Amino acid sequence: MKGTSWTQEEIDLAKKMRDSGMNSVQIGAKINRSFRAVKSMLRRKNEEGKFKKQTSQKVFERTCLCCSKPFLSLDPKRIRICVNCKSSEIFGGIYAK
Ligand SMILES: [Zn+2]
Repeated sequence: MKGTSWTQEEIDLAKKMRDSGMNSVQIGAKINRSFRAVKSMLRRKNEEGKFKKQTSQKVFERTCLCCSKPFLSLDPKRIRICVNCKSSEIFGGIYAK
């Protein structure tokens, strides 16, 4: 068993997993640590300011199929139209799929 010290590899790994939306329990299971250890490490790193604040949700840049302008989509497989176009499409009945 390892102690409470974290190797840089583990920290990077935990950070990556957290950034991809995993929670402390899932991260802990992957790197064989308790979720509490993961949580406190991540919190400590947060306080040190090494982690940038990020939204937990990934966004993808896409080009709107409608107006051809780039926009950020939370789900590139389903959201292919920007918010502006989407709302007008819904009302136009074209976005029925
Ligand atoms: Zn658009």
